[in-house]
Amino acid sequence: MELTDKERIAYLANIIAVARADGRISPMEKSVITRIQKRIKAKKSELNKAESRAESSEFEITPVGRFSVKIQNLEDMIHISVVDGSLDTSEKSVVIEFAKAVGVTQEQFKTIVAEVKNYLASETNTVPCPKCETPIPRSAKFCPNCGSSILEADKEAAIAVSYEIPKSGLALEFAESTASSFPEAVRIAKAAPICTTAVKGKKTWYLAAWPTIEILEAMKLANNLKGLRNRCVFRRIPSTHSDLNRPLIPI
Ligand SMILES: [Zn+2]
Repeated sequence: MELTDKERIAYLANIIAVARADGRISPMEKSVITRIQKRIKAKKSELNKAESRAESSEFEITPVGRFSVKIQNLEDMIHISVVDGSLDTSEKSVVIEFAKAVGVTQEQFKTIVAEVKNYLASETNTVPCPKCETPIPRSAKFCPNCGSSILEADKEAAIAVSYEIPKSGLALEFAESTASSFPEAVRIAKAAPICTTAVKGKKTWYLAAWPTIEILEAMKLANNLKGLRNRCVFRRIPSTHSDLNRPLIPI
């Protein structure tokens, strides 16, 4: 499969977008991405580009290359979506959208899913256990070394890659930093009614949110974040207050 560098990046970005669709990337998904990267002979720099492209809010899955490449891309997208057990709803809709864009019928889609599952079940090579990293057969359900259920351990070790901005109150997000005020910012954030983290652009980001009546707590964090470069405050702009089902917007 000969692809140009642009095509390799787009090909990988499509697969990463499927893995990210449920908001988390698991070790098994990561290992599938690395294998595909090697198979299509993509450089590490191309993988990095594909990652940041898939992370962008403007990203749209786009079929690239000849028809056979598009089908191979679809197989790989199905592969990554079933590797952590079941076809997750959010991942599935991304894959189906791609299949439609390529012109694959529902019947053909079912056939490809069944083929990918058969192939995975018959694979003899090994993957590291998501918990203890012992090499185990890809088809194994439990790790012979630590006894973990592979799917459970894989879910537990998954890294959040996105979070939802709340729909009300005040929300602040900030990235890990070497600034001296950072540890105190994390302490305040962790005491918030809502505090989540996600890895974006290779940095850990924190999101803390308070109901509007607790604005003083939110302000404490806002003051603390002044020395940090990567930060953002979200609130509802008065003119959009009628539209309560939309997430808060940055100010
Ligand atoms: Zn293990």
